[in-house]
Amino acid sequence: MLPCEALNGSSELEDAPQPLKCFAVHTRTKSSPKWEEVSIMDEKNIPIRTYQVCNVLEPSQNNWLRTDWIPRSGAQRVYVEVKFTLRDCNSLPGVTGTCKETFNLYYHESNEDRESYIKESSFIKVDTVAADESFTQVDVGDRIMKLNTEVRDVKVTTKKGFYLAFQDVGACIALVSVRVFYKTCPLTIRNLATFPDTVTGADTSSLVEVRGSCVNRSEEREEPKMYCGADGEWLVPIGGCFCSPGYEERGGACKACTAGFYKARSVDPACAKCPPHSYSLRDGATVCDCHTGYFRADSDPASMSCTQPPSAPQQLISVVNETSVVLEWAPPRRLGGRSDAIYSVECLICKSSGRRSISNSQTCLPCGSDVLFSPSQLGLRTTRVVVSELKAHTRYTFTVHARNGVSRASGAGSAPSVSVSVTTNQAAPSPVSMIQVLDVTRHSLLLSWQQPDRPNGVILEYEVKFYEKDQKERSYRIMRTFSQTVDVTGLSPLTVYVFHVRARTAAGYGDFSSPFEFSTNSDPFPLIGEGVNSAFLLLRAAKNIYITYGAVQLIYSHSSLLSSLLSLLLPTGVKIYVDPFTYEDPDQAIHDFAKEIDVSSIHIEKVIGMGEFGEVCSGRLRLQGKREIYVAIKSLKAGYSDKQRRDFLSEASIMGQFDHPNIIRLEGVVTRCKPLMIITEYMENGSLDAFLRKHDGQFTVIQLVGMLRGIASGMKYLSDMNYVHRDLAARNILVNSNLVCKVSDFGLSRVLEDDPEAAYTARVGHIPIRWTAPEAITYRKFTTSSDVWSYGIVMWEVVSYGERPYWDMNNQDVMKAVEEGYRLPAPMDCPVVLHQLMLDCWERERAERPSFSQILNMLDKLIRNPGTLQVCVSVVPEACVPEWSVYEWLQSIGLEIYRETFAAAGYNNLESLLALTHQ
Ligand code: AMP
Repeated sequence: MLPCEALNGSSELEDAPQPLKCFAVHTRTKSSPKWEEVSIMDEKNIPIRTYQVCNVLEPSQNNWLRTDWIPRSGAQRVYVEVKFTLRDCNSLPGVTGTCKETFNLYYHESNEDRESYIKESSFIKVDTVAADESFTQVDVGDRIMKLNTEVRDVKVTTKKGFYLAFQDVGACIALVSVRVFYKTCPLTIRNLATFPDTVTGADTSSLVEVRGSCVNRSEEREEPKMYCGADGEWLVPIGGCFCSPGYEERGGACKACTAGFYKARSVDPACAKCPPHSYSLRDGATVCDCHTGYFRADSDPASMSCTQPPSAPQQLISVVNETSVVLEWAPPRRLGGRSDAIYSVECLICKSSGRRSISNSQTCLPCGSDVLFSPSQLGLRTTRVVVSELKAHTRYTFTVHARNGVSRASGAGSAPSVSVSVTTNQAAPSPVSMIQVLDVTRHSLLLSWQQPDRPNGVILEYEVKFYEKDQKERSYRIMRTFSQTVDVTGLSPLTVYVFHVRARTAAGYGDFSSPFEFSTNSDPFPLIGEGVNSAFLLLRAAKNIYITYGAVQLIYSHSSLLSSLLSLLLPTGVKIYVDPFTYEDPDQAIHDFAKEIDVSSIHIEKVIGMGEFGEVCSGRLRLQGKREIYVAIKSLKAGYSDKQRRDFLSEASIMGQFDHPNIIRLEGVVTRCKPLMIITEYMENGSLDAFLRKHDGQFTVIQLVGMLRGIASGMKYLSDMNYVHRDLAARNILVNSNLVCKVSDFGLSRVLEDDPEAAYTARVGHIPIRWTAPEAITYRKFTTSSDVWSYGIVMWEVVSYGERPYWDMNNQDVMKAVEEGYRLPAPMDCPVVLHQLMLDCWERERAERPSFSQILNMLDKLIRNPGTLQVCVSVVPEACVPEWSVYEWLQSIGLEIYRETFAAAGYNNLESLLALTHQ
C-alpha cells in the first residue's frame, strides 16, 4: 500500500485510491522533516511503503507531514481513516520523558491545489490520535508490529479542498495508509420515486431533505421526499408516485399491463383482467374495447362489463278515470346487463286526420304541455305513471319506451316500446286557480276569478263559499253566479274572510279552489302574525339562556362537593381528579387542594429556570415542626391579568390533588401576598431532556428503563385518576439526585380548551405536534391513549439521550409522515423490546395502544429479566452487550442495600441473575 493515499468520493462509489505525495509542513523551527519514507513488509509479506518517524530520544519534537491537496468534491464532512503502528515507550530503554505515544491530526481548507508554503498555524487540529495497540519489539520480521486503524471525521465546507497533516511530537510511528472518504445516501427507489445518490450533511445530526422524481411511466401522488441522515441512511419517506394508466408496479418499476388486462387510473393498484364482453389486444391498455353488439356508456367505469340496450317494456295496461289514465307495465325481458333502465311516455291525441298516423283511419298529434304526468313523463324509474288533465271524451295513444345507459351509444334509432290507446270519460271542471279582490268596503268585497284551466265542457255556474276566518268552516255562506265576479255584501267591518270558488258543468261540480283570505279591513294581516312569532321566539331564546345559565351556576357552585360525592359513589380507594376550572371561584379550588404557606418560612436562593409565568427559583422551606427541605419556587410575574392568575394557580390546584412518588409533589402556595408562588419539591437534576443530553451515553440500559418505569408509574396513577396530561414530554419530566423521574407541568390541559381552533390553524403553538397522537391533533381527542402515544415519544427521547423527535423536520412533515404510517426508528443501541413497546404506543387506532398499567408490567418484566434487554436493534453487535453490573441493576430498582447479600449468595454477574427464582 502507498504511504499516503486519498479516496476521492464515497466509500461505496469511488474508483481506485489516488496516490498522493507527502510534503513537509513549514514549522516554526523550520527544521527539516524528520519523517522518512521506508519500505516494510505487510502481514501478507507484500512490500509496502510507509512514513516513519522515531525521534524518541530528543525532547520537543515537532515533525510535520502533510498530504497533497484533496478536492472535497461536494462533501461537507469527510472521514479520515489512518492505519499506523506505534512503538510502546516503555519498551524503549532510557527514553523516559521524551517519548510520546500519540500524534496529532490536522487539516487546512484551501482553494489552491498547489500551496507550497503552509504555515503551521494555518492548520486546525482534528484530534490527538493514540494507538489501541502499541508494540514492544522492533523486530518487524517477526510480525510483532500491531496495526492500528483510527477514523476521525471533520467538517469541510468553506473551500474547494483541503490538506491533511500529521504532527509527530516525539513518538515512534509508522504511517501505513491514510484513506479519506465521505458518505452518501446511495441512489434508491422508494414509493416509485428515485432519490439520487446524496452527499450527507455537514453535521452529525443534520438531515438533508431530498426531493425524489417519479420513475418512468409514473406520476406524482404527493411530492416524494426523504431525508439523508449523516450516517448515509435514508430516513422518513413521505409521499410518492403512482404508475400511470396502463402500467402497474413490478419490482419498483412501472410495467405495461399485458394483453387481456388494463389499468384505467393511476390510483388503481394493479392491472386488472378485462371485464366481461370486452378485450385488449395490446400491452399498456388503459381501457378494454367492447365485443361487437356490446357497449359502454360515457359514465361507465372501465371496470364495468360491456352491456346492451334493453328490450321493449312488457304488458302495458291502462285504467281510465274520467280525464286521467293510470298506465302500468312490466320491465323489459332483457335488461342488457344493466340496472339503469328508464322509461318515457309519449302521448298522442288521435283524430280522423293529422300528420302522424297510428292506423290507417287515424291521425295523431302530440298532446301538448297541459297534460300532467306523475311522477314524470321522461326518465321514469318506476313502471307506473298517472296521466291527468286530459280532455274529456278524447282518444289518446300512449307509448312507453325503454332505454338504458347504452341506448345512445348503441346507435339504434328509437327505443324499443309498447303502446296502448284509450278514450277519456266525461269530467267535471278543474278548480279555479286564482281569486282577486277588486274593491273593498267596510261591509263588502268585490271578487273576480278566471275560468278553470280545463272546464271539460260548458260552465253552467260558479259557486262561492265563504266564512269568517275565526269561525273556521263551522258556519259558512254560499253564493252562486253565472259571471266570473261576485259582490259579497253584508260583511262585518275589520274582519278576515276565507273564500273558495268552484265551477259546474253538465258533468257536475269540480273541486273548490284553494282558500283565499281577504279582510274588510285593508291592513295586510300576515305581518301581525310574524311579529307575534318573533316575539315568542325571542322570549323562548331568553328563557333557554336563563335555564342554561342556571344549570352552569349549579355545577359551578357545587363542584367542590363533586369529589366528595364521587368518592361516595366510587369504590373505596379510587380517587378522581376534579378539574379546578369547574369552580366558579378559583380561590376556592386552591383552598381545597393546596396548603397556604407563610412567605416567612421560604428562603429563596437562586434562579434555576424560566417558566411560562415567570422565574423558577430554588430555595429552602422550613415549616413549623418539620425539618428544612429544598424546594423549587415558581412565581407569577407582576402585571398579570385575572386569567393569568387563574391559569397559574390552576397548576397548583391540579398538582395538589396528586400524591405519588413519580408525580412532582406540591408543598403549598403563597396567595396572600405578592408575588404569588407555587412551592414544589426540589428536583436536583432539573428537566429530563436537558439532563440526558448532558449525560449522553453515560447510563446503562437498565438505568434508562428504570427512569421509564418511574414515568410510566406516575402516568398510570394519573390515568387511574382520570387525568389526561396532554403535554407528556421529556422536558416536562423532572429528575432528582437519585435519578427518580417525576411527571410535572400540569398547565397544558386548559390552554388547549381555551383555543378550539388551535389544532386546525397554522398556529399550532399550543399543541406539541411531535409528542401528540394524530387523533388529538386532528380532532382534539385527548385521552389517556393519546398520553400513551406521548409516552412512546418520551421512551424514544430517553433511549436516544434527549435527541429531538423527528430531528429537524418541520411540523407539517412530521404530521404528514405519521399520517402515512412512518414511525421513529429505534435509537442507537436500543433493545428490540423497547422499540417494539414504542411502536405499540404509536398504534394508529388508539384502542390498540397499551394501557399505562400494561406498559408498567412490561417494564417491570424487563427489569426482572435483564437478559431480554440484550437483543438490540443496532447494527453494531458489540454495542448491545449490557455493561451494567449486579450492583447497578439493584440500584436501578432501588434495592442496592442487598448488594452484599447478592454477592454472598454468589450472584456476581448478570447471567447468574437469569437463574434467580421466586424462592
Ligand atoms: P416549568 O415552568 O415547570 O416548565 O419550569 C421551568 C424550568 O424550571 C424547568 O425546565 C426546570 O428546569 C425548572 N424547574 C421547574 N420545577 C422544578 C423543580 N421542582 N425542581 C427543579 N427544577 C425545576
